[in-house]
Amino acid sequence: MIDFHCHVDLFPSPERAADEIERAGTYVLSVTNTPKAFPKTAQISKGRKRIRTALGLHPQLVSERHGEIGLFRRLLGETRYVGEIGIDGGDDYARHIDLQKQVFDELLSACASVGGRVMSIHSRHASGEVIDALGKRREAGVAILHWFSGPVSHAERAVDIGAWFSVGLPMLRSRRAAAIIKKLPRERILTETDAPFASTPGEHYPTAAVSETVTALSRYWGCDDAETRRQLRSNLSALVERAAVFRLGNGLN
Ligand code: MN
Repeated sequence: MIDFHCHVDLFPSPERAADEIERAGTYVLSVTNTPKAFPKTAQISKGRKRIRTALGLHPQLVSERHGEIGLFRRLLGETRYVGEIGIDGGDDYARHIDLQKQVFDELLSACASVGGRVMSIHSRHASGEVIDALGKRREAGVAILHWFSGPVSHAERAVDIGAWFSVGLPMLRSRRAAAIIKKLPRERILTETDAPFASTPGEHYPTAAVSETVTALSRYWGCDDAETRRQLRSNLSALVERAAVFRLGNGLN
């Protein structure tokens, strides 16, 4: 199973969550919300074959943490994965939207300057702005829109610029889900939990939420879970192959 957007470091016990992930055999992208959180979070996945750690600067924290962009650039050489980054246009964050756009573009430009990264992207109430920014920086790498909640027309635009999507239960249960899923190429979809925030928040890693997501997706695709799992596994392999081309090192040394 695959969970391409999970905040392992924000579980009450990250080590235990990582153990549970390993035991379930789930492939996880462990995203971070600030560059400062990256080194410690990367330690959690050390020696664990299925967990990769992403370097992030969450858009909801940009107004307080944009001073960490320099650290982001320095750490970018250590991982092929970036996230969570993006833009949030929700009521509490819209007043910082210009700063968010500027910072997002700086992060994309940093990814481009190191030859590209696999990026997990937040686009809540800002899917248009996010797609515009990504469209102008195609060389930043592979963008995976996490928990996409924009209109169908934006989903189509995102597909046109080569974006992927990671989908979880809240998204698959939303009103627009059927219309959106229909527009997304099956070979560009991965599953996610956004745990511990979404999908049964709690002390333990929500392994059941991943299987339920597979089942929900199978229903939209009109196939059985085994076929959905095969498709998702093949998608992950293709993505990892693309990631392998992105060189480590940040060009600073
Ligand atoms: Mn998240």
